[in-house]
Amino acid sequence: MKDEKAKDEKATLLDGKKLSQKICATLKSKIEKLKNKKPGLAVVLVGDNPASQIYVAKKEKTAREFGFYSEVHRLPASAQEKEILSIIQHLNDSSKIHGILVQLPLPAHIQTQIILNAVSPLKDVDGFHPLNLGRLFMGDPLFTPCTPQGVMELLKEYHIELSGKSAVIVGRSLIVGKPLAHLLLSQNATVTICHSKTKNLEEVCQKADILISAMGKPHFIKNSFVKEGAVVVDVGINRLNKKIVGDVDFESVQKKASFITPVPGGVGPMTIAILLQNTLKSFERSMS
Ligand code: NDP
Repeated sequence: MKDEKAKDEKATLLDGKKLSQKICATLKSKIEKLKNKKPGLAVVLVGDNPASQIYVAKKEKTAREFGFYSEVHRLPASAQEKEILSIIQHLNDSSKIHGILVQLPLPAHIQTQIILNAVSPLKDVDGFHPLNLGRLFMGDPLFTPCTPQGVMELLKEYHIELSGKSAVIVGRSLIVGKPLAHLLLSQNATVTICHSKTKNLEEVCQKADILISAMGKPHFIKNSFVKEGAVVVDVGINRLNKKIVGDVDFESVQKKASFITPVPGGVGPMTIAILLQNTLKSFERSMS
């Protein structure tokens, strides 16, 4: 970690696009060596949320590009729990499928937890099943949630020291903030999780050696939130004036941070790479 920065020096980019391509290329070469069988990923998409449609299309395209078998099950927004559960049951039983992902959010009339609980923990490549989350907190997960794991891989690639460092995460969701806190803790960081009721957020963030934002508020994290030389990871994906932006005000923060993720091209591509990595892991486990 750089402690001192010359005044006009900009932060080093934590390039998730580049690292994700490296990970996916490794997966592809492993798949090419397999005879007659491919790891299979199934995505269940309910409704017509435009962002979800884009994410699912990207996951499907990337999976195919790197040699995976891929299925997408699209259901209308009016679909009932029973129909979704029946598709998940079919996918749990299918020998072609090694990873099942239910794209969130689900329509309001569907109880998300019931659906996530129905995915076989052995095919739960998103790591959202209670068994996998529980195992994560015990230090022995079958699958680690993709976005938090993607952040960890990015920090590792750039040799960011975590042990003894102060890590502040803004956001406490089950898919990002909470599992990420655990992963950072397991690498001996001292972790603070912030949320909408946190008092003096700016001051708390200023103490971070590693500041991670997963709140979903465009450009909320300003230069004044950031300690000189901090590592800043922006998980947020927000639409602002027809552009995709993160939670971090990149232009001003890059002048203060030592490392920073761009949006797009930071955590987003890492999420997909880890999803595919988890699918191959599941395939290999099913073969052993
Ligand atoms: P959630 O809406 O589930 O959680 C947002 C969190 O931010 C909550 O804990 C909330 O607090 C907190 N928060 C909101 N406003 C404030 C505020 N003003 N001050 C402090 N905390 C605040 O979102 P997700 O975790 O699902 O996603 C977060 C962001 O990450 C989104 O932009 C999403 O699109 C993006 N994302 C990106 C991924 C990627 O691959 N790059 C993958 C997944 C998500 P509280 O709990 O009190 O409500």
